[in-house]
Formats: sequence, structure tokens, C-alpha cells
Amino acid sequence: MNRDQRVDHLRFASELGVDGVSRDPAWRLRSGGSASGSPHAADGHAAPAPASEALPAIREDIGDCTRCKLHRLGRNQVVFGVGNPDADLMFIGEAPGADEDVQGEPFVGRAGQLLTRIIEAINLRREDVYIANVIKCRPPQNRNPEPDEVETCEPFLFRQIDAVKPRVIVALGKFAAQTLLRTSEPISRLRGRVCDYRGAKLIPTFHPAYLLRNPSSKRQVWEDMKLASGFLRTDDSQI
Ligand code: URA
Repeated sequence: MNRDQRVDHLRFASELGVDGVSRDPAWRLRSGGSASGSPHAADGHAAPAPASEALPAIREDIGDCTRCKLHRLGRNQVVFGVGNPDADLMFIGEAPGADEDVQGEPFVGRAGQLLTRIIEAINLRREDVYIANVIKCRPPQNRNPEPDEVETCEPFLFRQIDAVKPRVIVALGKFAAQTLLRTSEPISRLRGRVCDYRGAKLIPTFHPAYLLRNPSSKRQVWEDMKLASGFLRTDDSQI
């Protein structure tokens, strides 16, 4: 990181409300140091395929998907997911936008760049976590995904979650949070709460695209990220 990048990083941290930094390497341990998980304990049954094998198999099953109408509504490609297959922390957004549809990777546009900074604010790198969306294809004009599209696509997300086995899932925005939790409660009421979800702690927070329009909400996202970071630091037996 050069000096300008460091200054920019600190400015962003202060916008989030980060209350201090240290050069002490031990400080990194605030967030658990690494988001990589240890191998998941065997329980007497045959060990499931490691995520590094399960994820490519899921991607192959999706193929050049034509299961829902989005394939003929202008999408360029399926946007699967990216990151560390053994991540302890997983982010789930809504659906790819224009940039993601072109690049084939979730959260690479402006909202994605903000997400990367949010991840770095808890001392992780983008490549430490796993990032996916509820819907794998871009809806036309970035409209909300429709119920039949969610119903068709979400089993693949569930398989991604079950393969990665994150300890913490951060649901980004109203759509992801409401879809995963099967609720119509507003995100303003969902955030600040933690739910058990497919073996993980699920933390709903605002979508980075919302933060671009409402920067004053960054502090609430920082609270949610501190919560996520706290769970990552806690060993499973204490949760
Ligand atoms: N918004 C999302 O929800 N997902 C992306 O991948 C990009 C923007």
C-alpha cells in the first residue's frame, strides 16, 4: 500500500466510525486473523467433498443456465461466486449488475468496490471471504429478481453455502436478507439482529449500493461488521 492508499484507507475507516488503529501485528487478531476455516470436523460419516471440489461441481451443474427466463432477457453470463472456498465469512447480495454481468464476478462495480473496503475495514482481504448472490443472472434494467427466478436459482446458493460452511453470513441489503430469512420485514428492522442460518450466524446489513446513496448509514454497517468480526473471533463452543 502506498502513502495515498494508506491515507484513503484511514479516511474511509474514520467515515465508518472505526475508533482506532494500531501497527501492532496482534491487532489483526481482532478479526480472527484469517477468514480461512479449519477442516470441518468429521462425525463418523464419510467426509463431504471439500469446498474446493464442491464449488466447481456446483458451477458445472449450473452450466450455461436456461432454467429461468433471465437467460433470454439480456444476461451475458452466469455470475457464480468468488473467493476463498474455505471462508469463515460469506457475503450474499441480490443479483449481478451490469459490471458483474460483463466481468462474470459478483460485486465488482462501484458497490463492489465499497464492499471490498468494508471487508478491509475488518482486516480481511476480499480473497479471504466468499461472495455470492441470491440470483446468478442479471435481471434486465437491474429490476428486482422475481419470485420464479428466486425459486429456480436459490438452491444453487444453498449448495454454495453448504459447501463453504461459513461461520458468519452477511446478507447485503433488503432483498438478500428478506429472501434468505423468508420475511417481508424491512431491512431497517432486520439489521442489528443475528439469526441462525444453515449452520452460520446470519447478519443482515445495508447493501453497499444503498450506502453509496446514503453514506450516513456507513456507521450502522460498521456496527454490523464489528458484530460479524466478533463471531469470527469466538470459538464455536462459545456460540
Ligand atoms: N449488487 C448485488 O447485489 N450483487 C452484485 O454482484 C453487484 C451489485
